[in-house]
Amino acid sequence: MTPTDPSPRAVRVVAAGGTIAMRGERAVPALDGAELVEQLPQVAGFRLEAETVLSVPSTYLTLSDALDLARRACAAADGGEGVVLTTGTDTMEEVAALCGLMYGGDAPIVITGANRPGSAPGADGPANLLDAIILARAPAAAGLGVVVAFGGEVHAAMTVRKIDSTGPVAFGSPTAGPVGRIVEGRVWLHATPRRPTPLPVQRLDRRVTTVTTGLGDDGAMLRHAAEVSDGVVLIALGAGHLSKDVLADLRAAAGRVPVVITCRPDRSSMLFATYGFEGAERDLRASGAICAPFLSAAAARMALLACLGAGLDRAGIAAALAPFDAR
Ligand code: ASP
Repeated sequence: MTPTDPSPRAVRVVAAGGTIAMRGERAVPALDGAELVEQLPQVAGFRLEAETVLSVPSTYLTLSDALDLARRACAAADGGEGVVLTTGTDTMEEVAALCGLMYGGDAPIVITGANRPGSAPGADGPANLLDAIILARAPAAAGLGVVVAFGGEVHAAMTVRKIDSTGPVAFGSPTAGPVGRIVEGRVWLHATPRRPTPLPVQRLDRRVTTVTTGLGDDGAMLRHAAEVSDGVVLIALGAGHLSKDVLADLRAAAGRVPVVITCRPDRSSMLFATYGFEGAERDLRASGAICAPFLSAAAARMALLACLGAGLDRAGIAAALAPFDAR
């Protein structure tokens, strides 16, 4: 650093369990936030505090846990600290999306974890945590918003996806690409993610059901979901396509509850006017559903939960999710 460089931020590590905190022949949560940080001699001398909020596999997180974690992360970052949130990879897409939808401040919130327990050969947790801390304190990360740092890469919260169940590069951004890398403790950022207008999420307690359609689908799940849910995420085929029958079910569902559409391919996007068959993109776009094809199904569900929890009506939800479709 030259004397003119701004100084690194203080960092707060908020630990919430996940594989990064797990150890043992049959791995279970074992390490708290302080113990996670103790594994890293490289951070000696950093302004850094660690707290432990939860010690659970991320499949155990409730919606209220997720909201509490997001609020804590946002509050610390609003106070000027760079925040590192450690949690499980299984639901990291949801936690990242929720934080990304709620946070509008300058200090970064960096989410990380591990795909291999701390006691396994090639454990990836310490390297990921070190990268996340380095990014969270870096002056260059100001304004970045919420990101996932994993496997040496930096991914925007709203477009990140878990792409590998067991390997050390567990996350990718299939549609958007990573926004940067961390190399030998140095940060390289080549893009600043587009950040949605922060949502004032009061509660996260509605039921949003994800329905995936496929070859031969009779639409029964979509009809049922619209009856028992406050909102539905529909994973359409290809570039926003359905069968004729499921299109009719979509129209009925969208007349009943907010329905958000994303598409099945990992690199999902939705056409406007290429195809003319019944059930093609034009019909889906005119169905009354809200199209957010650049969100993964997990992020779309969290986005709809957050919108409902912020008290938005259909028009408000459409406006909030507009950044996740082409214009
Ligand atoms: N496999 C998971 C992880 O990577 C377990 C969890 O999500 O808690 O952390």
